[in-house]
Amino acid sequence: MASGAARRRGQGGATISGKTTVVGIIGDPVTHSRSPAIHNAAFAALALDMAYVPLPVRAPGLGAAVEGLRALGFRGANITIPYKGSVVSLLDWVDADARLAEAVNTIVVDDDVLRGYNTDIDGVRESVLDAAGDTLAGRAALVFGAGGAARAAALALARLGMEITLVNRTAARAERLAALLEAAVPGTHCRRVPLDAVSPTDVAGHRMLVNATSLGMGGTSKVPDWMADNVSAEQIVLDLVYTETETDLVVRARESRAIVIDGLQMLVRQAAVAFELWTGRRAPLKVMQDAVT
Ligand code: NAP
Repeated sequence: MASGAARRRGQGGATISGKTTVVGIIGDPVTHSRSPAIHNAAFAALALDMAYVPLPVRAPGLGAAVEGLRALGFRGANITIPYKGSVVSLLDWVDADARLAEAVNTIVVDDDVLRGYNTDIDGVRESVLDAAGDTLAGRAALVFGAGGAARAAALALARLGMEITLVNRTAARAERLAALLEAAVPGTHCRRVPLDAVSPTDVAGHRMLVNATSLGMGGTSKVPDWMADNVSAEQIVLDLVYTETETDLVVRARESRAIVIDGLQMLVRQAAVAFELWTGRRAPLKVMQDAVT
């Protein structure tokens, strides 16, 4: 049971006062988001007088909403689908990694300055190090997708020294991501395989498989069979998608006895980086993980 102090400090939104520092999540939709549960649990655990609120925003209101963070004295916000790219041009300052990824998922309001960060890159890095240690240099990773999540994942894995193969529905986006990676991470060479040409051998040859598409999200189709059918026990599978129940890819990867990093583990890891940016405190990882499991 929560202590009186924890209750006064806003656990579960019970007691928010005029002194409470507010952060939130801007997106459309945000009703499914697990981030409020993760952050509010962490604020309560560290007895921080902070609260995290969902902020559903329609596209025409994005500029006003972001400016409103400053006007309303927010400490910051997470940015989620579909605004991680479009928010970049609305900020006063953008971190170098967020520029590379062309996506901001965390805003910090610092003395009225709107600063943008991308915590997905560190989130992928930390989740992968948790699962496999620093053993992946020179090994191959197949990244399926070329959107914001794929850019973050591919950058993190290339920096860990992995050889990247990109597969994407729209070939031009994969080409662009390959060029970005090769420019950003010296020594990286990126293979591209067209979506209609991926073979079981391609999949088997990779130590790590990453689903960075939106396939597997509620209401969308599963990842293709070439991916789910060819997972082996020697592989690490990272599925960035998270849903109420485990995705088909995660279920199949567990059945194959692969090492699995699911979307919720990644969500917690990227949230921990955002928490540290807003609070300057070390994130209570176990509390955050327990809040979503
Ligand atoms: P995005 O920028 O819109 O990119 C979507 C990607 O999915 C693109 O590569 C797109 O291919 C591909 N795609 C969509 N529908 C497809 C289909 N029917 N067949 C094949 N490919 C398809 O989205 P994002 O920001 O990268 O997010 C992707 C997923 O990652 C989302 O589910 C998001 O929630 C999740 N995510 C999770 C975390 C976490 O912490 N767990 C963090 C970030 C993102 P095209 O280029 O051809 O359109």
